[in-house]
Order: sequence, then C-alpha cells, then structure tokens
Amino acid sequence: MSPRRINIVAIAVGVLVFGLPSAVFNYRLNGSVERQSQEEMNLGARRIIALAEGRISRAIALLDDLAARGVNSCEPAHLDALRQATFATTPVKELSVIAPDGSTLCSDLSSSLEARAVISSEPAGEGTDALIEVVRLGRRPGQIVRITRPGGGTENGLAALIPTELLIPQVSTQGGPVGMNSRIATRNGTLIGEYIVLAENSETSGENIGVDLKSERYAVDAMLSLPRASLAARQNDLRAFGAIMTGVLALLTFAFALMLPKRQRDNPIVAIEQALKAGEFVPYYQPVVDIRTGQLRGAEVLMRWCKPDGSVILPGVFIPLAETSGLILDLTRAIMRQVSKEMGPAYANRAHLKIGFNLVARHFADEDVVHDVNEIFRNSQLRLSQIVLEMTERQPIENLAETRRVIAALQGLGVQVALDDVGTGHSGLSYMLKLGVDIIKIDKMFVDSIGIDRNSTAIVETLVDLAANMRMEIIAEGVENFEQVVHLRNLGIRAAQGFVFAPPLPSSSFIQLLEAIDPLPKRAAEGQAPVSRRNPLRRAQVA
Ligand code: C2E
Ligand code: CA
Ligand code: CA
Repeated sequence: MSPRRINIVAIAVGVLVFGLPSAVFNYRLNGSVERQSQEEMNLGARRIIALAEGRISRAIALLDDLAARGVNSCEPAHLDALRQATFATTPVKELSVIAPDGSTLCSDLSSSLEARAVISSEPAGEGTDALIEVVRLGRRPGQIVRITRPGGGTENGLAALIPTELLIPQVSTQGGPVGMNSRIATRNGTLIGEYIVLAENSETSGENIGVDLKSERYAVDAMLSLPRASLAARQNDLRAFGAIMTGVLALLTFAFALMLPKRQRDNPIVAIEQALKAGEFVPYYQPVVDIRTGQLRGAEVLMRWCKPDGSVILPGVFIPLAETSGLILDLTRAIMRQVSKEMGPAYANRAHLKIGFNLVARHFADEDVVHDVNEIFRNSQLRLSQIVLEMTERQPIENLAETRRVIAALQGLGVQVALDDVGTGHSGLSYMLKLGVDIIKIDKMFVDSIGIDRNSTAIVETLVDLAANMRMEIIAEGVENFEQVVHLRNLGIRAAQGFVFAPPLPSSSFIQLLEAIDPLPKRAAEGQAPVSRRNPLRRAQVA
C-alpha cells in the first residue's frame, strides 16, 4: 500500500478508534447517567422502607408486649418497665402512657413533660391497631414519629417515640455519604423527616428527578430525588473520565504509531517496496563476449540494490523475497524501463548487441509479460530484436503448455528467449528443450569442471551438439580464467561471460567499455566524445 493510502486509512482508523467511541459515549451518557441515578434512587427508597418497616414493627411489638404485661399507668413499677423497655429497644427514644383523649400522662424519661403537638395521626397499617403519628416536641425544631397503641375505651394507651433520623439511612450502601435527597412521609402526605444533601429547586417541576416507594406493611412512603443539575455534574465527571480514557487510548495508539514506521522499516517486503519507489534498484551490466573474436555481443542485466548509505546489495538477498511477495513483476518492469532509457542511445546504432533480462517462473504463467515487454520496448531505442529474456532452469515449470505459449508469444514480438542455468534444474534437458528457446546458458558449475571432470565435459559436448542441431546459441557463464576460455572455444562455444572479461558493471562503466571496444562507425559517432580504441576484453581473447 502506498504511504498516501496508509495515511488515509490511518486517519479513518483514528477517527473510528477515537471519534466513534467518544461520540457514542457522549450520546449514551445522558441516558445512562439518568438511568443509573434512577436505579440508585430505587435502591435507596427500598432501604428507607426496609429500615422504617423494621423499626416500626419493633416499636409495635414492644407496645403490644408491654400492654400484654398490663403496663398502662404511671405507677413506679410501670414506669420502671417502660424504662427497661426503652433501654433495650434501639429505635425507641421514649415510652409514654397516653390517656384515652390522647394526652400524654407520663413518660419513662422525665417528669417534666414537654408539650406534644400531634401534627398527623393515621392507622399504622393492616393487622395492628397502632397509629403512626407525627409529633412536635415543645419548642424543638423538627418533628418525631410516635407509634401509639390506644388503650381502647377508658383504658390508657402506650406510645413510643422514634427519632426520624433513625428511619432514614445516613450512609450509602457503599458506606459513603448518601448522594441524593431522602424523605419519608406518612401515607396521607405528612412529612416525617428528610435528609437533604443536594440543593433542590422544588418550584420548577422537571428540574428534579425522583422516585416514590410505598411501604406495603405500614402507612409510610419513601421519596428520593436529585436535582437535574447534579446529573450534569455527574455527566461532566464521566465525560472527564471518558476524555481521560480516550486520551490514554490516543497516547497508547500514538506510541504504537511511532513504533510502526520502525516495524514497517523492519519489514523487508515494505523495505523493497519503498526502495523500488525511491529508485534504489539499478541495473548492472555484465558483458557477454565473443570468445573467438573478442567482440562484445551484449550484456546481461543483473540487478543491484544501491542503498542511500552507499551499500550495494546483491540480488540473492532480495530477489527471492520479491518473488514470493509478487513485487518481482514491478521490479522487472522498472528495471526494463531503466535499461531502455540508459542503454537506448548506445544500442540504437549497434543492432548486433543484445541485452538480457532475468525473468522468474511466474513471468511465464500468463501473457502479461508479453504486453509489458511490448509496451516498454515498442517505442524504445532498444529494439525488441535486441532483447533476450532469460528463464531459469532452477525453478520447476508448473504449466508447460502455458509456458510454451508465453515463450512463443515473446518470440513473436521478435525477442529471444534463453534458458538460464542449464544443467542445474530438475526438469531434465529434453523436457526443457521442448520450450523452444533460442539460447541456452551453461551454468558456471559445468564451466568450472570442464577439463577437470570428464562427465561435465561430456555433458557440455552433448549440449553443444544439441544446440547445433536445434539451432540454438550457447553462452557459457561464470568464466573466470583463460584455461576455461580455451576449453570452451575448443568445444565450439562462441559466447561467454564471467569475471575473466568483466564483472557486472554500472551503466556508465559499461557504456565506456562499449564505446571503447565497439566504436560506432564515423557517421553514427558524430557529435560523440572520442573513445579509446584499446579493447579491455582483448586480454581474455585467445588468438
Ligand atoms: P544469474 O542469472 O545466473 O547471473 C549470473 C550470476 O553470476 C550473477 O550473480 C553474476 O554476478 C555472477 N557471475 C558472473 N560472472 C561470474 C564469475 O565469473 N564468477 C562468479 N563466481 N560469478 C559470476 P548476481 O549478479 O549476484 O545474480 C545472481 C542471480 O540473481 C542471477 O543469477 C539471477 O538469477 C538473479 N538476478 C539478478 N538480477 C536479476 C533480475 O534483474 N531479475 C531477476 N528475476 N533475477 C535476477
Ligand atoms: Ca541470468
Ligand atoms: Ca545463470
């Protein structure tokens, strides 16, 4: 993928990774905060009802117990019983004896009774005669709950006072402060007590959200509420949390992104791709020489990866990877274009010179290579008739019929096809020769053992005969010394390449060599710089 596309994809991914969760988070925040608060209030209301029910039922049970024991007067023994009962029963602050008219006769606490103003009185609930009353004590602020058990008829009754704060939980379920306003009221609506932690604007409806829960046992209701403004504060807290989390995510991704270029650089396929774009793959040219005349027959293009740091990487390092990744097709096209450009002028007036390109098996899997070669060289100064395409015998041929078709189509364009590394493959020579190639290139392995190993010599002899019969040319590769040149010549081989003549050369060196040993006829050379007439390849030419 190109860096531009990677950037676009990265931006899209960034928007999705950060934008989408943020947007969804914010979109869902309002609803979820309100839902969550509602649930908390339901829970709070259930706690109030449970607490109130527990305390009321204990008070009623205590009053029933005392009445059953006949405690109903201000006699010292009765007051004693009341005192003990108050002491033993947590929510009850005071027990008193009530006259049939509702007035308080005496209490376990003090003789100087405060005035008790009854604000409301209603039946406590089903299954009991007790009343739930809201009472104000003297001049004290606030009110108190009184559970009263009337005596019936002329009999005195009993009453228990329960402080309202004992009916409303003062801590949250987690043990922290309660985060909402709580109220408890009698069924007919008299406020018993409240625990206000957040300022509410009760005049404007809709500014608060709340829940009401009625006790099923007693005439008490719990009400919880929250000002909407506090929801906004919670949302802001959550938004801040969300923003922090998004920030953390962004930082992590940023750190990852910083590492990405390194990872990409470390990825050899990406490195090849980038080097290709940067023009770091360059053609080198190894001369192919006529060993009888010393004339130049052309060159084989051997790719080099010239890195910006000055190092030159050999094809053995990157070609296999370029092949498996499929980049070899782009690489080959790029090299062909470059050769066409830099060798065109030198080759234009030297029609006898050939230039060879190395192809891989997949080039012969379909006719794309035919179109590529035609397109690149059709209008080039390098003529199609000067092109040699080498296919290696090292790689097995998967589809012989298709490969033959592609070779024939290439030959139809006027190019020659060579079989490279002959003798090293596994396909068998006769099989390979069915491909109908124009040239066979004898591998260095045979060249090295000619004159040393009888078998190798015999194989080369066979190849020479075969080539003659099939009108194929032979080129010997990897020729490193004079003895080898002599042997090859004696075997009837005419063309060779190898370090004995020249290594693969950068274009400028190859062009210099070309001009030195293959000068243009005067007219064609007009306007060109004078060249040396010494033939640097002559030293390997055996007279
Ligand atoms: P090849 O096609 O058999 O190329 C000949 C190799 O032998 C080249 O190695 C060349 O530098 C080396 N050589 C030439 N003369 C001598 C010699 O006298 N002695 C020795 N020891 N070696 C010699 P290079 O350049 O490293 O290329 C290796 C292989 O990489 C090539 O083998 C070819 O198969 C592949 N290759 C090179 N360029 C390309 C390319 O543009 N495309 C493809 N598909 N493959 C390429
Ligand atoms: Ca080759
Ligand atoms: Ca070869």
